[in-house]
Amino acid sequence: MTEDTAVPSRLDYEKQIYDLNQTLLLFRSLSSTFELPKLIESILYTTMAQMRVTGAGMFILDPIQDNAYNMGDYYINVDPDPDPIVSYSIPKTSALVEKLETNPRAYTLQEVKAMIPSSKESRMLDSLNPTLLIPFVTKKKMNGLLFLGEHLEFGGEFSAYDKKQIADIASIAAITVNNASLLEISSTDMTTHLKFKYYFFNVLSDRLEEALASDVPLSVLMFDIDFFKAVNDSFGHACGDYILEKVAYIIKKSIRSRDLASRYGGEEFTIMLNKTTAENAVKVAERIRHNIEQYDFTYNNKHLRITLSGGVTTFTSAKNPAKSANILVDQADRALYFSKEHGRNCVTFADDAMLASIAHHKEGV
Ligand code: GH3
Ligand code: MG
Ligand code: MG
Repeated sequence: MTEDTAVPSRLDYEKQIYDLNQTLLLFRSLSSTFELPKLIESILYTTMAQMRVTGAGMFILDPIQDNAYNMGDYYINVDPDPDPIVSYSIPKTSALVEKLETNPRAYTLQEVKAMIPSSKESRMLDSLNPTLLIPFVTKKKMNGLLFLGEHLEFGGEFSAYDKKQIADIASIAAITVNNASLLEISSTDMTTHLKFKYYFFNVLSDRLEEALASDVPLSVLMFDIDFFKAVNDSFGHACGDYILEKVAYIIKKSIRSRDLASRYGGEEFTIMLNKTTAENAVKVAERIRHNIEQYDFTYNNKHLRITLSGGVTTFTSAKNPAKSANILVDQADRALYFSKEHGRNCVTFADDAMLASIAHHKEGV
């Protein structure tokens, strides 16, 4: 619209109807995206197009830690480039959060800085050079803070209509962020912060379909902690939980961000290595086994040594055209069982001979 006070023209109404339709389409599309990183990426691209800005970024409340809003990789074309050694984070306890939650709308950088004068957050936001900042608020709680780059039209100024439009988009996109965060929480084990089995199976099934279609390898690793019952029996359940947490942490540190590790069961872990050959998968498995074996687990001043047994399998359309996620996991499980039977603290690859030697075995090793 032209001026806030002017009588709206037919064109203004047509634009409003068009924008409302776009917002509805956006809601429909965002509602069908449940993976948080994918959802944020969609939100960034759509708002950039709708608001005609050069770039955008977003701080998202970490659904698992629930203590800070982090930018992480959630930004596109931010100018100047964010500094890779700076942690772009706003603590949940920041005065800014409460102020934005009370009155969610589009804010200029100056307005936001005035809420938190001469603070660390103020300087950090300043360095990102945003034109507008828009809190994502649902049920009176902020779950994200979107910021926009330079406006490509009207000499860089945003009209009141633009600001209202982006605030409306934020209010519905906040609902989709909330849903994706809830899914993230419900699919994550709080002891290890790894995904649960069913989530792992869903992702593995999707990646297996892609691997089949594009004829790339896909590997699955399965690990089980050796003599874990003895740890619980000797040092207590809390110590056992500490070991689980540390083992999960070491596993996560030993793989790439595009791989997926899950807590498959009590003290069992599965890892999906996308686009990874058998040879490399065995290397990764050995690295994990070695990293655990080397680690000095310390609990209540007591030092413990922990080992893992592992199984590895690889889908390839030529050598192992496994048709389902179940089949792959079962192969990794049988290879793991083989490791248990052959001295533990080792890794076995599920080749034909090995699989033939263990037809199938009970659930859980
Ligand atoms: P193996 O080398 O054959 O795998 O021996 P193990 O003792 O590790 O195997 P077993 O299956 O007999 O024991 C697994 C133990 O893991 C038993 C169970 O109490 C423990 N466990 C499962 N989940 C948890 C958990 O969340 N926390 C703790 N502390 N222990 C757990
Ligand atoms: Mg065990
Ligand atoms: Mg077990």
